[in-house]
Amino acid sequence: MFSLTRVRMDTPGCENVIHFNNAGAALMPNPVVSATVGHLYLESQIGGYEAAAANLDKIERAYDAAASLIGCSRDEIAITENATRAWDMAFYSIPFQPGDRILTCTSEYASNYIAFLQVARRTGAVVELIPNDQHGQVSVWKLQEMMDEKVKLIAINHIPTNGGLINPAEEIGQVAREAGVLYLLDACQSIGQIPVYVEEIGCDFLSATSRKYLRGPRGVGFLYVYQERISQFEPPMVDLQAADWVTADQYRLKETARRFETWESNVAGRVGFAAALDYLLDLGIEDTSARLCTLAENLRQKLASIPGVTGQDLGEQKGGIVTFTVADWDAAAIKQKLAEQKINVSISTPFSARLDMEERNLPGVVRASLHYYNSEPEIETFCTALENLLLL
Ligand SMILES: *Cc1c(COP(=O)(O)O)cnc(C)c1O
Repeated sequence: MFSLTRVRMDTPGCENVIHFNNAGAALMPNPVVSATVGHLYLESQIGGYEAAAANLDKIERAYDAAASLIGCSRDEIAITENATRAWDMAFYSIPFQPGDRILTCTSEYASNYIAFLQVARRTGAVVELIPNDQHGQVSVWKLQEMMDEKVKLIAINHIPTNGGLINPAEEIGQVAREAGVLYLLDACQSIGQIPVYVEEIGCDFLSATSRKYLRGPRGVGFLYVYQERISQFEPPMVDLQAADWVTADQYRLKETARRFETWESNVAGRVGFAAALDYLLDLGIEDTSARLCTLAENLRQKLASIPGVTGQDLGEQKGGIVTFTVADWDAAAIKQKLAEQKINVSISTPFSARLDMEERNLPGVVRASLHYYNSEPEIETFCTALENLLLL
């Protein structure tokens, strides 16, 4: 097991705030900051293109490190601006016909759902919700019942933006594989939070972001595309990175997942992203995840004993995102009051996951998203601060 003292020393932000907004953007550790800032500085000293050439190995390292983390080959990784663009590049490359069924879940992220609605309107595809089971997670059994030859895509999130729920991604992958249906997994919150191995899940596409549980810089994300699918899908937009312009009227798409990229990027962010991946690989995702889940369970138990506080996490297995409501309090007001004491949380509302929040009749929840570098004393301080608020 890694040393908590060391990871906290590596994380200067720990001295300023109790940061329970890791599902928004985690605190970056020093090696990530120095890699990012170092590259930016080099750009200022020798020029942007020249700095990229000088740091080519660091930029390329991101592909190998992301591939090691999720168990795939570097050619199956595209680096993007964020998770949403990664997801979009996959989703919008799928040719839908009228009547094609897109199966998703009630906790689906707003941006994904908005894209479903747009594509449904354009193509005549239909969006359908897979019901939840008694734990509030995607029901594999109901999904099985929904399968027929019209199902074109299963697109769900692994862990939603608004809670501790972990969807049964592997069992869903099994259903998708048996039916030969495309499977797009939004792993934005699960990558870096829990171990995610694409071979076990069996997804065709997976999207993720740098700034959340990977603790990398903002403005970077990545897309995994299963080797066999790369040549079958043409990205919705292509440029001179995605393809080679071979004759006056012909282009040839790249053979690797880089066909889903664009040429220009935040290079310093990519260098920092590679450092973030290496930092996590060094600690070990099995260990960081075990500690994170234990911390979150600890917080859930403590919250359960505070009168007026109701835990709102769904799912049979839960991860590091802890959500709750407080009687007679607006979630935004709790966030504000905690911020005054240098405690960062965020809130989830129908803005980010409308169907789920409406189904549960929740206008908002407080979201305390932990990470492995958070500490037991921080949880104590957090709960005391909350109790004191409720005494007012
Ligand atoms: C944050 C989030 C996204 C979007 O990620 P970006 O990097 O902001 O594009 C997608 N899905 C889920 C579940 C998220 O929490």
